[in-house]
Amino acid sequence: MLRVIEPATEEVLAEVPRATAADVDAAVARARAAWPAWRAVAPGDRAALLRRLADVIAKHHDELSVLEARNAGKPIGDARGEIGMVVDTFRYYAGAPERLLGDTIPVAGGLGFTVREPLGVVGLITPWNFPLAIASWKLAPALAAGNTVVLKPAELTPLTALRFAELALEAGLPEGVVEVVAGPGSECGARLVEHPDVAKVAFTGSTEVGRSIAAGAAATIKRVTLELGGKSANIVFADADLEQAAASAPGAVFGNAGQDCCARSRILVERGALDRFMEALEEAVDALQVGDPLDEATQMGPLISAGQREQVASFVNGDAPIAIRGSAPDGPGFWFAPTVLCPVSNDDRAAREEIFGPVAAVIPFRDEAEAIALANDTIYGLSGSIWTRDGAKALRVARAVETGVLSINSNTSVRVSTPFGGFKQSGYGRELGPHATDAYTEVKTVYYATEGR
Ligand code: NDP
Repeated sequence: MLRVIEPATEEVLAEVPRATAADVDAAVARARAAWPAWRAVAPGDRAALLRRLADVIAKHHDELSVLEARNAGKPIGDARGEIGMVVDTFRYYAGAPERLLGDTIPVAGGLGFTVREPLGVVGLITPWNFPLAIASWKLAPALAAGNTVVLKPAELTPLTALRFAELALEAGLPEGVVEVVAGPGSECGARLVEHPDVAKVAFTGSTEVGRSIAAGAAATIKRVTLELGGKSANIVFADADLEQAAASAPGAVFGNAGQDCCARSRILVERGALDRFMEALEEAVDALQVGDPLDEATQMGPLISAGQREQVASFVNGDAPIAIRGSAPDGPGFWFAPTVLCPVSNDDRAAREEIFGPVAAVIPFRDEAEAIALANDTIYGLSGSIWTRDGAKALRVARAVETGVLSINSNTSVRVSTPFGGFKQSGYGRELGPHATDAYTEVKTVYYATEGR
């Protein structure tokens, strides 16, 4: 059995059967058997089923939010937002089956046109930080495009995925269209990657595992999309609204207790503004409410596991330049107080590695050119922010920073309607937005000869 732990209490929240490689094989076989009928469902009917699925999730919004908050240790307000996003994602991609457009292309002697064909069975491997939300970014476009799916959630957080499988049936999706296997990545995830009947793997998680998935998928020339780690820069220029930039910086790096691939964990601050910024940042960090995920006032919960806490703590050892330390509860639970290190060099370990916990590194910079150089001096390129009142500078920097998603005078990264994904070792492929179904279809070119031979 798989024992699921509640991070805020360290107690067992649930026990569920632990899937094996043989279970993955059986799930793939069911998904493969279900595929011909699913791809043949008329586009309007597939759209209606996805809309109904969104409605069923909306009906279970409270139940799923509490389950996610308890299993992942995230504030209930955040969990509600995430389940709301799951509903929105299915609503958005319910529009896709009837918009899988092709081209007609002028050619001699006939008609050339393209159609978008589904891939078949798609394997989805997802992490523990935003369990059902990240799964939905893959599930909704994959299903809309006419694929069947086998979802492998992280072992630490399988509960909302397992519930989702039940709700998909309740909404009327046929058996086998959505399969969920809750088992270890090294066994069940790896089996999905090597399975000859899995046409594609869509993965979110660490860069290290992403690398092994890309390598493993090469054996069967499997399609792969990878959404991996980040070490994003929050660039604060001296001419910015410093109060606003400082007030929103904690949310951008301590949200989800820092366990966010988009975390702006490197805060780059122009030297002349450093003291004022740090003063305002301290106020904001002190005000952060860290505690019971089910308390409505909570803004940050515990880390996911004891192992994650140990890993995060290794960045705040004896000689770390701790400038600001927030608070966290004592007692059971994987708590870690929000921490700001300053000044940090971009060569320090805290600036180079994805900490995936509530630890921010403040790195001073001299001018625009140095800010860009520092922002780009990383193997990652997922998200980032730029704070300045100079519009032209904001756009220059936005074009120069090598990252997939950027916000100016704000810290947002993910929207259902806009593409999300990384440059460099943050991965490849884009999720969400109008083109996400491209990643779950093949383009087929058909030529119809109309002239006599
Ligand atoms: P992983 O990359 O190990 O896990 C992500 C998913 O991949 C999980 O479902 C996991 O399964 C599965 N998996 C693990 N090993 C394999 C494998 N060999 N083949 C196929 N699938 C596999 O991330 P962790 O959860 O262990 O977190 C470690 C670090 O990764 C974090 O500290 C953070 O730095 C980064 N991370 C980044 C995320 C992001 O959103 N970019 C998300 C999560 C982590 P299981 O866990 O069940 O074994």
